[in-house]
Amino acid sequence: MLKDILTTRLHEVEQRGLYRRLRLVSGAQESTIVLNGREVVLLSSNNYLGLANHPALKHAAQEAIAQFGCSSGASRLISGHMDIHRVLEEKLTAFKHAEAALVFPSGYHANIGVISALMGPGDTIFSDELNHASIIDGCRLSRATVRIFRHGDVDHLEQLLTSTPQTGNRLIVTDSVFSMDGDVAPLKAIVALAHRYQAWTMVDEAHATGVFGPHGAGVVEELGITQDIDIHMGTLGKALGGSGAYVAGSRALIEWLINRARSFIYTTGVPPAVAATALAALEVVAHEPERQRQLWENAAFLQQGLSEIGYTIGPTRSPILPVIIGSAEKTMALAEALLQRGVFAQGIRPPTVPQGSSRLRVTPMATHTREQLTQALETFAAAGKEFGVLS
Ligand SMILES: *Cc1c(COP(=O)(O)O)cnc(C)c1O
Repeated sequence: MLKDILTTRLHEVEQRGLYRRLRLVSGAQESTIVLNGREVVLLSSNNYLGLANHPALKHAAQEAIAQFGCSSGASRLISGHMDIHRVLEEKLTAFKHAEAALVFPSGYHANIGVISALMGPGDTIFSDELNHASIIDGCRLSRATVRIFRHGDVDHLEQLLTSTPQTGNRLIVTDSVFSMDGDVAPLKAIVALAHRYQAWTMVDEAHATGVFGPHGAGVVEELGITQDIDIHMGTLGKALGGSGAYVAGSRALIEWLINRARSFIYTTGVPPAVAATALAALEVVAHEPERQRQLWENAAFLQQGLSEIGYTIGPTRSPILPVIIGSAEKTMALAEALLQRGVFAQGIRPPTVPQGSSRLRVTPMATHTREQLTQALETFAAAGKEFGVLS
């Protein structure tokens, strides 16, 4: 019977220390949260700027519900394309200095939709080995040939570009900030290779939107290479404190996606309140740049503190701090000990990261106070000693 087979399989997963459980959060997403009835310092959220519970976003969502109701009622192509979607897409177009933009219900939808709409059998996709699961799934769905290059390794990428027959279309796709390591893709070198070998470029700014760039538009903005990238993707659910995602680029790209991206066509448009939230978030990002600055200051403080205690931090270049532990069991035990002491840092293990590189993924927010971060560091020191992770 199905449930017997699944019980056996789940037991095996548990034996390998890879069992995943949901944790229940009560109340809003703040710098501290109530988890299983206890207040803990939250160091595992992508709500980097602390916008998820921002009054301006909440107000915008409430107004949109009052004016437009709760649902868009249908696919955007049927009768679900509303004024507020158009306003948001115009705003995102300006934010990304693009010709046009399109909102998807999530970053997962965006990546699988874009890649499978653009690429097909006979085409080749060049994908960084640490790209997000939604990119991997988009590649699979496209049925194009996929060549995986070693993480951030432009020499390997060039070898693959040289050794792959020049048939069909070519796409190089990469995260800008890698979600589990916090490092940044070598985008300038990738753009140069794309130019030399006639490949299109797609950049996923899920963890960079609101975090990188003078206006928070991402790593591409920071590097000044906006016009060199064919397909810009970013999410509205991380630093922007809401939900959903956008794709930006040429008018032709967006029209093609409206016609061919199945995860856009065959799904209900995002609710008006979600669009309104994103609009309000873009306003806050534009008018409260101190949040971005505070996020980076908090990340620097936490990174330095963790290193001084004796933890090994992977080579991050963002507010994502990978505290490398190694074994999955040890990582999860340490995460649990931290939690018991009032600090919530998520343990990350295979298959999300390679075997032997299990880690605590520690992410501060702009809204953490120095006292909260100091308390967290003291807890990291105590738990690390107890678990033999620190000498
Ligand atoms: C989170 C994430 C996504 C998916 O975005 P959702 O809106 O959460 O579905 C895509 N790509 C990267 C790199 C991400 O980190």
